[in-house]
Amino acid sequence: MTDQATSIIAGTDSEQPDVAAATTAAAAAFAAYRSTTPQERSAFLEAVAAEIEADKDAIVPEAVRESGLPEGRIAGEVGRTTGQLRMFAGVVARGDHLGVRIDPAMPERAPLPRADIRQRMVPLGPVAVFGASNFPLAFSTAGGDTASALAAGCPVVVKGHPAHPVTGTLVARAVARAVERCGLPAGTFSFVLGGIEAGQELVADPRIAAVGFTGSRGGGLALVQAAAAREVPIPVYAEMSSINPVVVLPGALAGDVTALAEAYVASLTLGAGQFCTNPGLLFLPSGDRGDAFLRAAGDAVAAAAGQPMLTPGIAEAYASGTASLRGTEGIRVVGEGTASGDHAPAPVIYEAPAELLALEDSTVTDEVFGASGVVVRFDDVAELLPRLEGLEGQLTATVHADPDTDGEDAAALLPVLELRAGRILFNGWPTGVEVGHAMVHGGPFPATSDGRSTSVGSLAIERFQRPVAYQDVPPALLPAAVSDDNPWGLRRRIDGELE
Ligand code: NAP
Repeated sequence: MTDQATSIIAGTDSEQPDVAAATTAAAAAFAAYRSTTPQERSAFLEAVAAEIEADKDAIVPEAVRESGLPEGRIAGEVGRTTGQLRMFAGVVARGDHLGVRIDPAMPERAPLPRADIRQRMVPLGPVAVFGASNFPLAFSTAGGDTASALAAGCPVVVKGHPAHPVTGTLVARAVARAVERCGLPAGTFSFVLGGIEAGQELVADPRIAAVGFTGSRGGGLALVQAAAAREVPIPVYAEMSSINPVVVLPGALAGDVTALAEAYVASLTLGAGQFCTNPGLLFLPSGDRGDAFLRAAGDAVAAAAGQPMLTPGIAEAYASGTASLRGTEGIRVVGEGTASGDHAPAPVIYEAPAELLALEDSTVTDEVFGASGVVVRFDDVAELLPRLEGLEGQLTATVHADPDTDGEDAAALLPVLELRAGRILFNGWPTGVEVGHAMVHGGPFPATSDGRSTSVGSLAIERFQRPVAYQDVPPALLPAAVSDDNPWGLRRRIDGELE
């Protein structure tokens, strides 16, 4: 047990990250926090949202300064963060996350009677969350991973991202106030900073039961390995890399190709291209209309200026990724914008021959984090299908099509794309992820380390829970969620039928 009185915030003013103190406090908080009623937990998530809003005037300028992202984008991210917390507050208040199922006993059943079996979801235990560099608020300290883990009933220890330590510390203080205001144990939430060692120590700590991560493929895989090497391995939900293929079908080029190309470039360059859903690979029909699209895309990207990237390291990774594309035989530059300084490199679009997709070399298919896109031409969909089948797992796949003229081709693409990506969209662009109940922000490896999950939307809560069945447990001992009197008024599945 710990006598920690307030949440640990080993923020910018601390010298050493005390990971063990944070995990000890989280473990001590678990029993009390997981036994909060749906109303208490929901009120806590609402309180976190309110405390972040109360500090908005301090948080926004700091996040702008640390990330280089524009104020409008950061202010929007505050709304997304608080909206996400409130969505989970609603889910928890309704008890949706408990997923209660009851199969009543059938003592008279022949040849064997059936026992009374009741199922509900329970939280896994303390969760380690690695904040993302590219969303200093919505995927960081109190972002989607934290909100969904807290909603599930798991205390959270955040490893703040070094690209926005002050923002992370300010948000952590807001969460800590909500913990205190709601009378919850201090260890319900902790925040630590520190480098790779602190992150490794956190994942290896036996008190940690699961991990949420957004970042590089190398970082995510290192954490997956660290978690698997523990005496008791734990799940790691790592969102890593995706090039988000877009397929333009001929019918989509019948209209205004310039507008379509400009929309592509707008999505490609949004936020300096630092979105996990950035459209990095576009398949374009051969022929005049495709040529016109490519010229318009080249013109649009040539008119675009570089925007500051999040960290010098990310800008260096972009420089090396684009250099290797440029240095690959057969790849040509379609259009290139203007750099606006060392860490604000030029956006660029390349055209690559389709044969390069089939090679062992992954230069064309590796994620280049930033505003870099590759276009590959195709003659017909039959030729395209194996190319799509050969791609790695993706967060998104997009189709631009005219439903009247491309229907058959689009229908052939869908079964291939749904095995490759977590979200398929038509006649839109993948940047911008709605937070809701039906959203999936996940996908097969390497988009994520576990393609059965989503890190955005209310289903994200399931990552931090597991089902327990209670067989013939005496009524007086049953948890409230599965008891006969249903004190929380939950919608439950009784004998297979939703009440
Ligand atoms: P990162 O290098 O993977 O770092 C993310 C977090 O993980 C940081 O807190 C980092 O700690 C920690 N970490 C990294 N490697 C670790 C290891 N071996 N053991 C323990 N902890 C480790 O990602 P980033 O700094 O955000 O950006 C770098 C690259 O990630 C980008 O260039 C881009 O390619 C990719 N990225 C992808 C997405 C996406 O959504 N797909 C989003 C953001 C970034 P420290 O930094 O404190 O050492």
